Amino acid sequence: MIVEGQPGHIDQIKQINAGTVYRLIDQFGPISRIELSKRAQLAPASITKIVRELLQAHLVQETEYQDPGCRGRPAVGLILDTQAWHYLSARINLGTLTLSLRDLSSKLVAEDLLPLPADDPEPFLDRIVGHIDQFFIRHARKLERLTAMAITLPGMIDAARGIILKMPFYPVEAVPLGPTLAKRSGLPVFVQHDIAAWTKAESLYGASRGFRNVIQVVIDDNVGAGVITGGQVLHNRSSSVVEIGHTQVDPYGKRCYCGNHGCLETLASIDNILELVKQRLSVANQSLLNALPISVENLCDAANRGDALARDVIIGVGQNVGRILAIMVNLFNPEKILIGSPLNLSKTILFPAIMSCIQQQSLPAYSENIQLESTQFFNHGTMPGAALVKDALYNGSLLVKLLQG
Ligand SMILES: [Zn+2]
Repeated sequence: MIVEGQPGHIDQIKQINAGTVYRLIDQFGPISRIELSKRAQLAPASITKIVRELLQAHLVQETEYQDPGCRGRPAVGLILDTQAWHYLSARINLGTLTLSLRDLSSKLVAEDLLPLPADDPEPFLDRIVGHIDQFFIRHARKLERLTAMAITLPGMIDAARGIILKMPFYPVEAVPLGPTLAKRSGLPVFVQHDIAAWTKAESLYGASRGFRNVIQVVIDDNVGAGVITGGQVLHNRSSSVVEIGHTQVDPYGKRCYCGNHGCLETLASIDNILELVKQRLSVANQSLLNALPISVENLCDAANRGDALARDVIIGVGQNVGRILAIMVNLFNPEKILIGSPLNLSKTILFPAIMSCIQQQSLPAYSENIQLESTQFFNHGTMPGAALVKDALYNGSLLVKLLQG
């Protein structure tokens, strides 16, 4: 959004314009000031002023480049200056904490994968804070100026306040993760649901880049979805993501950590899928899986080799997810649906099962042109956190803090 010459809060206009200029330099650099002015729809004088501030703060730099439009002497263009700025991107998963140091181009500088067992008696928040302190001590020699911290995790999160309300796997309640880290570090701290942040990462650098209406479904240790509608991630700043994982599929089903029974997550999360495989194997002796350890890789491999039990389990997951997706298609009319799952190893079985549900159960006009694809990133690593920082630079909120020093 570009705002110039309109009534409004002056700081907010400055923030939005600075973010827009920064984004354009990131996406089109090296780019001349004239080209920036056209693309940002801002007056040359405004561009000069914003660029001067960004140059002084060492957030952008000038470079000579050959403008393809004009022959002769090289032109002076602007590119980002990213190496002197670092941020922490962290991810809490089932049993692990990944901590990474990245520069502002999202390039990885250092990364540690640490155990985070669910049954440790030390309080959860103390453990996270301790691991982060130790991480910075271990990598102190590589550390440039720190700009922010971004942490993504599964669970129910009040993203606006940075509070973890509830999590699967860890018995925690109302953990003030964001405020605690912000107080200790003096930095902006972003806390977000990992699926919401992953959806943003795919739209910034991944499989949904350039698409304005996307549903991204994750079937993994947890189950949920992110929605991009009109180019914006739905519920971006609020307390919730699209909780399809906690939609009831079977009213007599297993109890879920959210307090309800028979949620999609209790049927379609990897743990529950593997448990179902075990149950079925106890009464079937014809399966390839009888001779193998039970794992997602072996399940998908057996399914790909035509094993009836394995195929049946994966098709069942596709149908349960597909039923919910059919409703979401009618609500959001997406151009693209992304599936992020280790079950994508059997996508030739999983995707048609999902697609046939969508085609049978949603409006034909909405479902006929949908592209169903895998996500580009996998459900680990810290790119989702990186996307939160990139987003805060693009919308200007973090950028203005860096400009103020
Ligand atoms: Zn639930």
